[in-house]
Amino acid sequence: MTLEALTARQRAFSEARAWGPFHTPKNLVMALTGEVGELTELFQWLTPTEAESATADPATRARVEDELADVLLYLVRLADVLNVDLLAAANAKIDRNEHRFPTDIGKAALEK
Ligand SMILES: [Mg+2]
Repeated sequence: MTLEALTARQRAFSEARAWGPFHTPKNLVMALTGEVGELTELFQWLTPTEAESATADPATRARVEDELADVLLYLVRLADVLNVDLLAAANAKIDRNEHRFPTDIGKAALEK
């Protein structure tokens, strides 16, 4: 499935339930933030080692997948409402980051 198809499916889901009036940018940002908080909660008291292997446990993996999906769906819906091409914006950001953080700087930091 493409991001465009996911956006269309999420839009249709919202329209079928007449949720448009509730899906203001402010509300969607707040909902997105709440879902990031739910994802954070799954990791907050784990050690770094425990966090790296958290998804080895099937129950935890299911919860992580569920919260990641919530985050993605609100992000996709927010971008749709704001008429933002999320893939174009993300690629433009990576372009800027590639210029901002040249690979030779990263290698030099690792060699110290
Ligand atoms: Mg959630």
